Amino acid sequence: MPEGMTVLSNGRLLSEEKDAHGLIAARWLQDKPHANYLISLVAGYFKKVEDHHRDIPLAFYTPTSEIGEAPGSFRDTKDIMAFFEQEIGVPYPWAKYYQVCVNDFVAGGMENTSITTLTDDTLFTSATENIRDSQGLVAHEMAHQWFGDLVTCKDWSDIWLNEGFATYYDALYDAHKNGRNSMLYGFYQTARFITGVTNDTNAIVRRIYDSPDQMFDFLAYPKGSWVLRMLRSQLGEDLYRRCIRTYLERHQFDNVVTEDLRAVIEEFSGRSYDQFFDQWVYHAHHPELEVNYGWDEKTKLAKVTVKQTQPISEQVLLFHFPLAVRFKSPTGLADRQVNVSEKEEDFYFALSEAPQIVRLDPDFTLLAKIKFELPTAMLHAQLADRDDVIGRLLALEQLAAKKDKETVAKLNQALNGDPFYGVRIEASKALRSIHSDEALEALLESTNQSDARVRRQVIADLGGFYRQSACHSARQVLDSEKNPDILAAALRALGGYAKPEAPEAVLKFLNAPSYRNELADAAIAAMRSQDDPVFIPPLVETLAQREAEFTSRGFAQALGTLGYLARNEEKKDRVREFLAGNLSHRKRTIQLAAINALATLGDPKAIAALEKSATAARESPERSAAEKALADLRAARKPVDDFKNLRQEVLDLQKANRDLRKELDDLKKKVDAARAKPGETNPKKKRALGK
Ligand SMILES: [Zn+2]
Repeated sequence: MPEGMTVLSNGRLLSEEKDAHGLIAARWLQDKPHANYLISLVAGYFKKVEDHHRDIPLAFYTPTSEIGEAPGSFRDTKDIMAFFEQEIGVPYPWAKYYQVCVNDFVAGGMENTSITTLTDDTLFTSATENIRDSQGLVAHEMAHQWFGDLVTCKDWSDIWLNEGFATYYDALYDAHKNGRNSMLYGFYQTARFITGVTNDTNAIVRRIYDSPDQMFDFLAYPKGSWVLRMLRSQLGEDLYRRCIRTYLERHQFDNVVTEDLRAVIEEFSGRSYDQFFDQWVYHAHHPELEVNYGWDEKTKLAKVTVKQTQPISEQVLLFHFPLAVRFKSPTGLADRQVNVSEKEEDFYFALSEAPQIVRLDPDFTLLAKIKFELPTAMLHAQLADRDDVIGRLLALEQLAAKKDKETVAKLNQALNGDPFYGVRIEASKALRSIHSDEALEALLESTNQSDARVRRQVIADLGGFYRQSACHSARQVLDSEKNPDILAAALRALGGYAKPEAPEAVLKFLNAPSYRNELADAAIAAMRSQDDPVFIPPLVETLAQREAEFTSRGFAQALGTLGYLARNEEKKDRVREFLAGNLSHRKRTIQLAAINALATLGDPKAIAALEKSATAARESPERSAAEKALADLRAARKPVDDFKNLRQEVLDLQKANRDLRKELDDLKKKVDAARAKPGETNPKKKRALGK
């Protein structure tokens, strides 16, 4: 590489030497075995920040201009490694741990052995307060250094052994750093997501899929993580840790399948986990429970009826699982445990007095969709229970469907007084969904939140009300707020109002400087919502003059908005020329955006320019996008042009046919040539077999 450039790869750096031409040759050695998809080579102009954990060098590289943000994203790395070594019980296995941020990366991160690649989208400034961090991404990719790199799933069918583990250990670190409630809130959100997916008939481990990409789904990631959470709760922490440590040590530098994990668990626990893996991993879905509760004052018996309502099929089983039930009354709490295995079962619990709160699965260790409707008084008691964050979140879900003033007042209290930020966020969302005048009032009174995450949520939820007061509030935020993430939320909210003051505010932020041009992105999104051609000239001007300040994604979205805003204009020349000027941009994402924007613009004069893009390599995304854009434009053209279109299409087809025929001829020649020399290949084969 040229001097000044950095080359990074797996393992350790052996040497860097300058040759006679002044080029640097770098030699890296990965001397421990790993899977070939984890090989990495990164070259470019980078700067770095460094640290070490024990004798393991740690470094974080960014493109030169972004080094100022590196410390913020790097800060947890050392602590995460120390935590994982302790939690997993196996020392970090590689020579070093480097993370390198690159522009326009195809994913969030890639856990290449000892040299993780990260998207530069993870970088952030302190102006966003606590809204952003890189903790989750850094922890996830580092967990892969054990789960994925030290032991690697044998093929994509078992990808959850990589992704489920990485997701779960990220959650464990979250609990370690930010407290158990933070982790529980994460599991609460993923459980809502997983149980919100209907008709999923896929098992986590399955052999039938169209492409490997399909296996990197919510089953491998959050559901895989949930399976580990359930396993840990059933085994107990110590036994779970011993199992995982043995699983790693037994299979290190090798491939694994799910059965390898199950074998260790059965060996150490002395119990069969056949049913557990069968229902959670080899079959689809999760329990859907309908629960009813009743109290008999005479016998002092609580009755809990549990019905499994998930449709049973070849893919989805009736589930067997332990279920904890907690009863709370002013004099104390009673914990009971039952085993659920039937389609419908009644359970009776003798208690000393009627409980005020009844909680199923109070530790939140069961992945299930539970319908358990409670009287409002019990929900209010649950919402006030400071020891039970999941109970409060579940109470909010049901209270969000009520409209009475007392409930709105309780939600307002939760939004402004709950000790946990996640409950405050969900209280804000609940007020939005109640959507009454009182709920709007409560949100308007609550914009002054000290936690930026909650403040942003309140602004976003106010945007759900089409009222003058809500619009005015967004306008005020734009004047007083400093946090760019919250300004962006207010701008997007403001975009939804057809009010005379909106365009002026949006234009003001189009050219406001911000990190990675976040505010311009939000202003452009608001322009799209406003759908007003008045924005076209200033937008063209900004894009032409300040392209370098945009991220590729931001610039691509802006091109799309430009085509959209101008789609009904009489004169489209200026916009068309600007978009066409980006058809040969050096970045593919921007080429694609320009093609799609020209299709949206709907100006047939763009056909000539798009035809050039349609000659890109076959099966390239540019070519298929251009072909689609051309088809759209031709279809929309006036009938007068039809004959000309048809003629052009025939010419195109003829050309495509010629290209194909030539390729076929070439192929034939190659095949014939290979067949013509059988005498050369056969003896070799024989020799090889004879060894
Ligand atoms: Zn991953």
